[in-house]
Amino acid sequence: MYKNEQDTTMIDAPVVVETRHLTRIYGDGTDVRALDDVSLTIHAGEFLAIVGPSGSGKSTLLNLIGALDRPTSGEVLIGGVPLSEVRDIDQFRGRTIGFVFQTHNLIPTLTAAENVEIPMYETGASRGERRARARELLELVGLAARTDHLPNQLSGGERQRVAIARALANHPTIVLADEPTGNLDSKTTADIMALLRQLNRDHGTTLIVVTHNHEVALAARRIITLRDGRIQSDQTVHSTIESELLDFKSSPLGQTILRGETLPDELADVAPKLRELLARL
Ligand code: ADP
Ligand code: MG
Repeated sequence: MYKNEQDTTMIDAPVVVETRHLTRIYGDGTDVRALDDVSLTIHAGEFLAIVGPSGSGKSTLLNLIGALDRPTSGEVLIGGVPLSEVRDIDQFRGRTIGFVFQTHNLIPTLTAAENVEIPMYETGASRGERRARARELLELVGLAARTDHLPNQLSGGERQRVAIARALANHPTIVLADEPTGNLDSKTTADIMALLRQLNRDHGTTLIVVTHNHEVALAARRIITLRDGRIQSDQTVHSTIESELLDFKSSPLGQTILRGETLPDELADVAPKLRELLARL
């Protein structure tokens, strides 16, 4: 199920997020080393889960990647640009990154559509453009019939869908979600994760989800585990079929096929195709 290296299918994609020796120490007297020398590389289109016990530094890492906080030392680069060199960080964040939090943070006096429009004010989009985009996004998250509802007229799962639509308002390259299903029941959690997975797959949005829910983490293709502010493990998750193929690849028959050795007649026809497939794993 697990393979302890970077997903080879992603390696060709451009790097969207890089952290270099990222350290964040809170406080001055009683220093808490919330994040301790974290270096990692995330490629475009990845779906990454960050897991780990409470207090292990997950939110700290996400906030640093999202430029909501500054590191004590080390650097975050987004699309190759060091955040420390970005002049208008609010504008940069608004145009590049979408956030989804555990509590949806919707404005209670605004409708679903109006909430989704908020990040678009940063971009100078016209009123008409904002409205059209908000409708399109609410349709995408399955809420076309709820555009004029206020947050308190929506269920928890629907509110979180609005928050996801809002996060997508400015076509972000990266969506950061901190415990996005933390307040939801298991059925709604599955729905929200299916939606996030769909966005990742269909739109190529790089998705980084902090979670302590094992099921949620398994929806991702890569799982980073933090402990005491450090990366404890970084694993790529393969589907069952992929992991069975990997087992086959390392078997004596798989190795024979890969070496192109002579095979029994009944295998000779399929061997070239199999060899091509195994070589790509
Ligand atoms: P997680 O999201 O994994 O639960 P956090 O990143 O929120 O963990 O916190 C990591 C550590 O940093 C914890 O020990 C926490 O108490 C501490 N911490 C987080 N935010 C602050 C803050 N603003 N001031 C001081 N300590 C903090
Ligand atoms: Mg947290």
